[in-house]
This record gives sequence, C-alpha cells and structure tokens, in this order.
Amino acid sequence: MIDDPTVDAAVAAVRAAGTLTAMAQGRLLDGQTLAKRDASPVTVADFGAQAVVCSILRSRLGDVAIVGEESASDLADRPALLTGTTELVSATLGRPVSAAELVDWIGLGAASATGRYWTLDPIDGTKGFLRGDQYAIALALIDDGEVVLGVLGCPRLDSATGAGVLFVAAGGTTEAYSGDDPTPRPVTVADPPSLAQARFCESVESGHSDHDQSSEIAARLGISTAPYRIDSQCKYGVLARGDASIYLRLPTRSEYEEKIWDHAAGALVVEFAGGTVTDIDGAPLDFSHGATLCRNRGVVATSGAFHDEVVASVRAVLG
Ligand code: AMP
Ligand code: MG
Repeated sequence: MIDDPTVDAAVAAVRAAGTLTAMAQGRLLDGQTLAKRDASPVTVADFGAQAVVCSILRSRLGDVAIVGEESASDLADRPALLTGTTELVSATLGRPVSAAELVDWIGLGAASATGRYWTLDPIDGTKGFLRGDQYAIALALIDDGEVVLGVLGCPRLDSATGAGVLFVAAGGTTEAYSGDDPTPRPVTVADPPSLAQARFCESVESGHSDHDQSSEIAARLGISTAPYRIDSQCKYGVLARGDASIYLRLPTRSEYEEKIWDHAAGALVVEFAGGTVTDIDGAPLDFSHGATLCRNRGVVATSGAFHDEVVASVRAVLG
C-alpha cells in the first residue's frame, strides 16, 4: 500500500528535479553532454536530476532501493561533467554540494530490481530535452513486480517556463498538478466516438518506434489525423488526460528490451486514469523480471474501449 509520506516524497523529488532540468534546458555548455556506450546522449541535467531525486528520497524515506538510469561511473574522469552537475544540484538545493556527495547520491540509483524498489528516469527523452522539446522525469515504486506508485513530471507540457504538468498515479486514481496550482485535479482518459476519430501519439524518434508501420496501422483503423509526435513518457500523460487516445511503440530492432524506467510511471498514470496498457501482443507489461520488460515487445496503450481492435491491427501489420 502507499502512504501519504511516500507519495509526498516522490512528488517533492520529481518537482525538484524538474526545477533543475528547466534551469538547464537550452543552457548546456560544451563538455556538458556525453554519448554513452549505447550511443544515447546524457547530460549534466540527467546526472543532476538523478542526484536530486535520490537525495530527497533518501532524506525523507530513509534507506530506499533505487534503480536509476544513470550511473555514477560515467562521471569518473570527466571534470566538466562533474563540475557542471555539482553546480546545478547546488543551485537547486540552495546549498553548496560537494562532488563526493553528488557521486554518492547518483550511486544510490544502482540498486538491483528486486523486491520493493523505486525506478527512475531522471530525464526521459533526453533527445527531446536537447532539442528544446518535451521530456519527462519519471519515478515509480515497484513492489514485487507490481507498479504501485507513478509520478511523472512533464516540465514543458503546456509551459515554456518549466512549471509544466505533474501526474501522480496512486491508490487507484491519477491526478495532475498544472503549473503553479497547488491543488491537483483528477485526470481521466477519453474514448473517441469512433476509432476513425482517434488520435494516436508516438515517439518523435523513428529509431524508438516504427513510423511507417504506425501509419499503416492508422490507415487500417480509418484514422486520417496526423500522429501526435512527442518525446518521452509525456505520451502517457497526454493519453491519460484525453489529448490522444492511442499510444503506439512499435519495435524497430528485434533484440531491444524496453527499460522499466521508460514505462513504469507512465503506464500507471494511464491505467489509473482508466486506460489500458499492454505490449503489441495484448499482454500486460511484466515488471517482475529485473530492469527490462524482457517478456514484452513494444507497447500499445489506449483509452480502453477500442484496445482489442487496436492490438488486432498492430498484429496484422507487424505479422
Ligand atoms: P521516446 O522519447 O518515447 O522516443 O523514448 C525515449 C526512450 O527511448 C529513451 O529513454 C531510451 O531509453 C529509449 N530507447 C532507446 N533506444 C530505443 C529503441 N531502439 N527502441 C525503443 N526505445 C528506445
Ligand atoms: Mg528514458
């Protein structure tokens, strides 16, 4: 079960990370971005956001296990990254932070994905973040393979300043804080009157989800509206609040395994808003096998009413 102090700590952590990333977006200097071993980009803001979330969860909840996307070892021997990250975290927390403290906090994210643990993507959609577009801070609590809490910060949604929208999925419902409004409002999915009137969303990056196949699926379903392309788990957020009714994530490489931190928070935000989330075969996402969704392929999330028809079309096109 989820108690209020746990939810409050997660919201505070994601909010602080959002302040940090909003401060950094568009202002990164040379040497503050790195290509990781898998060629994906990581920046001082990714490391800083992970440090802030880990430090706040630790100080408010004690000895928690966290599975974070970033690893402190990527900062070793990279002084520009370490200094830049330390400055961002100090500015966010309002006190000077040492490099040693910073590395310790980032290192808290190296727990193993078993039992009860948090999973964190400090900046989901780093490519969008670097382009000046949408990104998300995604934090979820998983208990024995079941996602029980999801907090999804979308600092740029409806906002150029970074106040954005923050979705909280807890206790069976999803609520959203909008901008500086201190009162969260319930959000619910919206089924379109017919499938042909559905709007679907997908990745901006065609390397993360196949765009040709999605347009074929849309055509089969009679959908003529252009796809809503948006980076990160903001896709789950816009689905949860009814701005879109289908999210397709269609595998581009057979060996790729989706990461738990790319889906746990967002999927719960959609489910508790009344939607349905499965893989491309219609099976539930299985968070009980470590850090990847190794038993699933791709994702199909919908507002619910037409889920089976959407999955059938996906299967027909993907063969
Ligand atoms: P999105 O913004 O929805 O395109 O998703 C961004 C996430 O896609 C990143 O956090 C990566 O972890 C993930 N990613 C990287 N490569 C792939 C891939 N080949 N297929 C699916 N997702 C990927
Ligand atoms: Mg990610």
